[in-house]
Amino acid sequence: MTSLIFPRADSPALAIAGRDSRFPVRHVFAVTRNYDARAAAAGGFKSDEEPAIFTKQSTAVIGDHGRVAYPPATNHLEPELELVIAIGKTVSGADVESAKAAIFGYAVGLDMTRRDLQRAARAAGKPWDTAKWFEGCSPVSDIHRASDIGHPTRGAIYLEVNGARAQNGDIAQMMWTAPEVVALVSRYVTLAAGDIIFTGTPAGEIIVKAGDRLHGVIEGIGTLDLTIGDAASA
Ligand code: MN
Repeated sequence: MTSLIFPRADSPALAIAGRDSRFPVRHVFAVTRNYDARAAAAGGFKSDEEPAIFTKQSTAVIGDHGRVAYPPATNHLEPELELVIAIGKTVSGADVESAKAAIFGYAVGLDMTRRDLQRAARAAGKPWDTAKWFEGCSPVSDIHRASDIGHPTRGAIYLEVNGARAQNGDIAQMMWTAPEVVALVSRYVTLAAGDIIFTGTPAGEIIVKAGDRLHGVIEGIGTLDLTIGDAASA
């Protein structure tokens, strides 16, 4: 067997509610613009526009009660609270039913974003990878199995920062449901066990700073707690 010059990096593994075994993370996907409060209020209008798909590095996934160092190169760090889908089996070019069958479970996640870098990149027509991934940029709660909780289609989703409400919505406002998001991503890449997908965030903008305590809730799914550390200590 060929030897390695240094140890292979460990893949993060998320806790699974009610089980001792963990969920090793493979790829991390995310979609944009999946909540439209006005459209939902108007009665279920669904945008024809596909959400954009982007990726985050799996090494940036951290579990519940994590601590994230305030990242460099930003003055506008913004958390996006999101329903996270955990994939349990290989799926490609799926219809919605087979996409749903590939979902192992659900979690609560934060798509941490350096919004100033994202806006500057957008304005310049450049990729915004540096806005969306940095060390610890993807905190994710314990995974709750679909075999235990089903496939929730409604439930309050809200984020509190130091006890004050910062984001507020309901997962019923998602224009693309969880199985539809899985089907969408599977048109472009083959998904497999270990992949996770962030499904977009509801309304509410806030800038967080070192020392802030974040508490995210999706009713019917779970909670996620995160502390922002300072740049040096976290
Ligand atoms: Mn997001």
